[in-house]
Amino acid sequence: MTKMIYGVLGHPVGHSLSPAMQNAAFKAAGIDAEYGVYDVAPEGLEDFLSNLSRKGISGLNVTIPHKIKTKEYIEQNGSLDSFARKLGAVNTVKPGPDGKLCAFNTDGPGFYRSLVEDLKFEPEGKSVFVLGSGGAATAVVMYLGNGPKRIFISDVDEEKTTALKKHYDGYYDRSRISIVDPMKMEKDLDASDLLVNATPIGMKDGDPSPIVKDMLHKGLRVYDLVYNRPATELVRDATRLKLHAVTGLGMLLYQGAIAFEIWTGRPAPVTVMKKALKEALKVNG
Ligand code: NAP
Repeated sequence: MTKMIYGVLGHPVGHSLSPAMQNAAFKAAGIDAEYGVYDVAPEGLEDFLSNLSRKGISGLNVTIPHKIKTKEYIEQNGSLDSFARKLGAVNTVKPGPDGKLCAFNTDGPGFYRSLVEDLKFEPEGKSVFVLGSGGAATAVVMYLGNGPKRIFISDVDEEKTTALKKHYDGYYDRSRISIVDPMKMEKDLDASDLLVNATPIGMKDGDPSPIVKDMLHKGLRVYDLVYNRPATELVRDATRLKLHAVTGLGMLLYQGAIAFEIWTGRPAPVTVMKKALKEALKVNG
């Protein structure tokens, strides 16, 4: 049998951790496959997607800046799963038996699986505070949906929070979600069971925590989506206060694990994938 081909599509895409994680997964599962990188500029996207089967590609991850345009292309020329449609962005593609492309988004389910497995937190009926309202926050909030009792969103960019709320309101119970002024977060954060950092603060050396330590209260769980270091200042502050806190490595792992399961129909070897991710992070960092 010939080697199967998979890869991550983005621009630029050189620093992606997915090849290390997915190649380790294929090897552990005994699947003869190679996962590479496809650096395709926006003007070449449609041509690339329309020739996927001809190129012999059996599955793709899609990253910045192609998540929305790929969704738009596949909406016209293939099929979208319900969450990808709701979110308006895809991160996983698989050609169907008829050659037509099927697209998914595993960022939301990946976050949820990590929330439950790593943080031992079930959001149903709870209050969740999401700091940031860009692409990652949108995936989180749209996947949480009507599960939490309340969702608070706060971002320095008011236009983005308004757009996220509008997007949420189009699908879910609008009375559950509120925009919070970043200068007046204390009361709503105090009423929350979970804090999600969906800002990039924490990615760079020396970054402070996006939340003043005094605002973290007893019983609060902290999920920091930042994944490129073992602990951010926010996670360190929370841990010092004996709060349960994790970085976003688990979300990155599970979005990849779910993609692997979609492509292969087999359970993902998550322990091997996690080890490969951690090693790749050390090399990249
Ligand atoms: P993004 O689109 O840039 O959105 C981040 C938002 O946070 C922006 O609107 C930004 O506003 C806002 N912000 C910055 N500082 C803030 C502050 N102090 N308080 C409130 N809001 C603030 O970024 P993204 O793509 O959503 O990614 C966000 C983070 O999630 C990154 O660290 C990324 O690495 C991480 N992420 C993790 C995973 C995973 O699998 N773990 C997946 C995706 C993303 P301005 O633009 O005005 O600064």
